[in-house]
Amino acid sequence: MSTCVLCNEDIAQVVYKNQLFRIILPDDSLYPGFVRLILNSHYKEMTDLSISDANKVFSAIFTIEKLVRLYLNPDKINVASLGNVVPHLHWHIIPRFYNDAHYPNPIWCEKTNPQYKPPEIRYKQVSQLALDLATAFES
Ligand SMILES: [Zn+2]
Repeated sequence: MSTCVLCNEDIAQVVYKNQLFRIILPDDSLYPGFVRLILNSHYKEMTDLSISDANKVFSAIFTIEKLVRLYLNPDKINVASLGNVVPHLHWHIIPRFYNDAHYPNPIWCEKTNPQYKPPEIRYKQVSQLALDLATAFES
């Protein structure tokens, strides 16, 4: 049995899953609308994927970014794949705002605006985003 946290993750936050990947909406109080795409298989680097699967992943990230733009209208979107702590391929798609808690730094850095709280409307936008994420890949 693998000890990798992403190989064994609780599926409670999953909004969509297919044979290649799953999409989750983490419950992030500072960044509602933060989406994560996680490969189901334990691959360490992008070049471990076949070109065909890499194209499917990239296309999915493209779709996620479009939906995040549509519903949250962020000032910028950060797409990140790090994996230094958990070397299991996954991507973060993060809506960013000029007044958010870490702007202009990555969200893993020290806060630049510690008082920041996202506006309430954003949680409604995320509910709609979740519905569309659940169906966007089914056609
Ligand atoms: Zn893993």
